[in-house]
Amino acid sequence: SREQLYLGMDFGTSGARYALIDKYAQLHAEAKREYPLYMNGESIDWARSWKETLFSLLEDIPLHLRPHIASISIDGTSATTIIVDSCTGEPLCRPLLYNETCSDALPAVKSIAPPNHTVCTASSTLCKLVSWWHSHSQDKGSRSAALLHQADWLLWLLHGKLGISDYNNALKVGFDPELDAYPPWLLAQPYSSLLPSIIAPGSPIANIKEQVSKQLGFSEDCIVCAGTTDSIAAFLAARATEPGKAVTSLGSTLAIKLLSKSRVEDARFGVYSHRLDDKWLVGGASNTGGVVLRQLFTDEQLEKLSQQINPALPSSLDYYPLPAVGERFPVSDPSMKPRLHPRPDSDSDYLHGILESIARIEAKGYGLLKDLGATEADEIFTAGGGAKNDKWTKIRERVLGLPVSRAAQTEAAFGAALLALKGARSKE
Ligand code: ADP
Repeated sequence: SREQLYLGMDFGTSGARYALIDKYAQLHAEAKREYPLYMNGESIDWARSWKETLFSLLEDIPLHLRPHIASISIDGTSATTIIVDSCTGEPLCRPLLYNETCSDALPAVKSIAPPNHTVCTASSTLCKLVSWWHSHSQDKGSRSAALLHQADWLLWLLHGKLGISDYNNALKVGFDPELDAYPPWLLAQPYSSLLPSIIAPGSPIANIKEQVSKQLGFSEDCIVCAGTTDSIAAFLAARATEPGKAVTSLGSTLAIKLLSKSRVEDARFGVYSHRLDDKWLVGGASNTGGVVLRQLFTDEQLEKLSQQINPALPSSLDYYPLPAVGERFPVSDPSMKPRLHPRPDSDSDYLHGILESIARIEAKGYGLLKDLGATEADEIFTAGGGAKNDKWTKIRERVLGLPVSRAAQTEAAFGAALLALKGARSKE
């Protein structure tokens, strides 16, 4: 018989993808879909759009590969929340997106959670839950309501067991990954009955529903595994599996994620940790990054000017590129002003100074994580639009004093497929 395959699906902010890998993590197929947009009155019907995209992507998988899929996992955007009927799984209201805020619930959440807890922002899953509860607790259906994250709901469409989530998605609803339980202050709330049970990302949940496997030509033995968030799946894709390995994302902003033996949290800098089995994924995000580059240069100019840079020579220019006033990490200063002067006559000297200044911010970020108690970074993989700039990579190696390379894989769908592989292995 043919070798087994493992399916990962990513539901990101702008569209969804799948990646199908074998046990050596070799890619066998992948595809991408935009979300079709349906209206439900005044608002977009996201639940319908995601559900349709899920099944379109499953139908995009070549027919002859489908029977070989041993397991499936899905990642979704963090804090995208959906309240469903716990018997039928049907949404009781429109999904609340990752970046939607429920400021009305913030005072109530702050009054029960410890100071500076990750739930204490208006876009947290807990604020979404509390906001829904405040307006629906008197409804007949509220007693049989259940909270799911986007990935949980999509996985449920495949396995049919309601009320299950993973400890990465559940962090922003208040789950404590260190206790491996919801904290007492949360369990004391009347809406705690809506909270899902929590398992580790990648843990097998159940076999795929018979109806789905028959309809799509999957094996009835295919197992559906718990998911994670989109940014964690993207980290997993880079396969930085040892403490000290890190991924810097050079996209619109600069985000760093470091695998650590210890958990690190510091609300002043927006630093917090996700659990990954017996390790911690520590992250921080600066406001510097590609947005500033894009304000000054086109991508073509970036490429041409970069070619003229000698990355072995230190730039004498010291900037702090920001798109607007304010920085959080690695310097917590809401009134910090962008510093991009003096501008030299040569554009390539200017770019050299900017790239090197961003590299210094990156180095300071890893230094701060270490000072806060994380495992010291020893190797950096790179994702995002800036990863293709080899001159920048060389500058960063010099400034960071560490090996820096482009991540071989950065698609979150690939990371979700690795989770599916892990889930299938745990069953062997
Ligand atoms: P997003 O965070 O929006 O997904 P991407 O990962 O797509 O961002 O990266 C886009 C960013 O990459 C842009 O802001 C752009 O300035 C930057 N970029 C594109 N080409 C280069 C290059 N050759 N060198 C450095 N940065 C680049």
